[in-house]
Amino acid sequence: MQLILMGAPGAGKGTQAAKLVERYKIPQISTGDMFRAAVKEGTELGKAAKACMDEGKLVPDEVTIGIVRERLAKDDCKNGFILDGFPRTVEQADALAEILDEHGKKISCVLNINVPSEYLIERAVGRRICKKCGATYHIKFNPAKGEVCDTCGGELYQRADDNETTMKNRLAAYEASTRPLIDYYKSAGVYKEIDGTQSIEKVTEDLVNVLLSVKE
Ligand SMILES: [Zn+2]
Repeated sequence: MQLILMGAPGAGKGTQAAKLVERYKIPQISTGDMFRAAVKEGTELGKAAKACMDEGKLVPDEVTIGIVRERLAKDDCKNGFILDGFPRTVEQADALAEILDEHGKKISCVLNINVPSEYLIERAVGRRICKKCGATYHIKFNPAKGEVCDTCGGELYQRADDNETTMKNRLAAYEASTRPLIDYYKSAGVYKEIDGTQSIEKVTEDLVNVLLSVKE
């Protein structure tokens, strides 16, 4: 099962990816992890990616695509994978289709965990984190009993980027960059949206139900 998992920052993509990895025994492949692994292994592409990152430049498409090609050829991807953070553009999506075609495969399903911006902003703005143990709370959905952390008594703080302006900008940028991809996979007939405002368990259940109907 070749899956792409999408979701705005804060939509719960990481949590759901972990559930799918466990259930289907296929690896989750994030661009960041792939880059780090290629750099660590010292492959030619890894060296090229590192040179860009060291200079603070964007890694060019051909390098990213090359790293994806190498990663998807590995043994653990035989039964499928969950791509996370790739593709980001229609050009990358085309390249991905070519790579899969070389293996006689195609994308089985693109799962988008959809959470309206207002929800994501409310989730972020109300988030409080314990300075000592890192426990997370939410002033409305999961409040601490008092002023401090329930478990360790540490001070609770709000992360600087958990504010409305930053979140609005991030979400607008995310939406603008993913819209062409959504259209691309919609016309390919593999795009599915899941309501990410539900409980973690219900979102997982919906994802699994969608995947039951996926043709290999
Ligand atoms: Zn704590």
